[in-house]
Amino acid sequence: MVEKALRFIYYDYMPQYKKYRIDFVSGGEPLLNFDVIKYVKQVGDKLYKETNKPLELWVATNGTLLTDETVKYLDENNINIGISLDGDKMQHDLLRVDINGKGTYERVVNNIKKIKASKVYSRHTKDIWGLVVITSKTKSLVDILRHHYGLGFRNVQMKIVRLEKESEYAINSECVEQVKEMYTELFDFFTAQLEDQSITYLKMILNDNDFAGKIVRRLLLRYVVQNRCQAGKNKVSIAANGDIYPCDSFVGMEKYKIGNIFEQEMHNEFEAITIETRQECSKCWAKYICGGDCYHNSCLVNHSIYKPDSIICELEKFVIKKALVYIDTLGEKAPDQYKYLMELLAKREKMLL
Ligand code: SF4
Ligand code: SF4
Repeated sequence: MVEKALRFIYYDYMPQYKKYRIDFVSGGEPLLNFDVIKYVKQVGDKLYKETNKPLELWVATNGTLLTDETVKYLDENNINIGISLDGDKMQHDLLRVDINGKGTYERVVNNIKKIKASKVYSRHTKDIWGLVVITSKTKSLVDILRHHYGLGFRNVQMKIVRLEKESEYAINSECVEQVKEMYTELFDFFTAQLEDQSITYLKMILNDNDFAGKIVRRLLLRYVVQNRCQAGKNKVSIAANGDIYPCDSFVGMEKYKIGNIFEQEMHNEFEAITIETRQECSKCWAKYICGGDCYHNSCLVNHSIYKPDSIICELEKFVIKKALVYIDTLGEKAPDQYKYLMELLAKREKMLL
């Protein structure tokens, strides 16, 4: 199925692209079935020989199964690693427990330290991404960044959890003010760092996945965003039976199924969606920076991919305002750092092409 699915993507469904990428991100812990990852790599190599189009692999893991053998394979095959680590021991162990209910923090951190201290692994492997989920129980984003920096992380994604609003862990009207305070603390921290001409911590989140980092990045690059993401456009998820979905979060939701790799007929409403076709978003002042709510989150909260989650809207606008003030201060207080950041982002953009 892996080979059939990849051949379908390369030759039939998306033949126009020069390179491809697979993210092993959801549907369970990918390292539990390491043979599949190895097999995908083999098929990717075969397709590269046939088409000269590379397949990049990205593994998001809970970090508990990173043995020497596994990491050696990931290292030798240039596979990117992201590890879920929600903060310090107390914060992480709140939700990330093993089958016996025991917190996994120590195991995960030991594995991270082993990789970082290794003399044989490449810089690429050591440059692990820190993946953080922000829930109603998150205490401080500044503490998380400091903690992750101390462990050697230089790239972090802090994302807001996607859950029904009744969930104990959801960001809802009861805790949104507390989340806003955390973002205020974060931007105050970034601003205070400018007294020392430092952007070290800001740089950690300056990617298109971190909730605040992506906003700062877009504002600096003066991006005009048309979509929330590429779900159903140049990104799809293929289930084990060949069903195609707009992204991993929709897998199993029949209503949003695009088709199947063995069938000709496709139905893909995501292809035509832009910020202008989502009614509320089209009238919003923040639309070209925000791009709209995650379709899956809108679905969870409002049962429609077109109707954004008002709590996320509130947060998005709040963070945009904070980011604008920060960028203004950055230009004023640390013009050299501002220039450096612009050059760095321009370089990264070129690499993406
Ligand atoms: S803030 Fe809300 S309404 Fe505005 S563009 Fe974003 S998701 Fe749409
Ligand atoms: S719809 Fe949501 S979960 Fe799916 S790719 Fe887009 S942002 Fe991610």
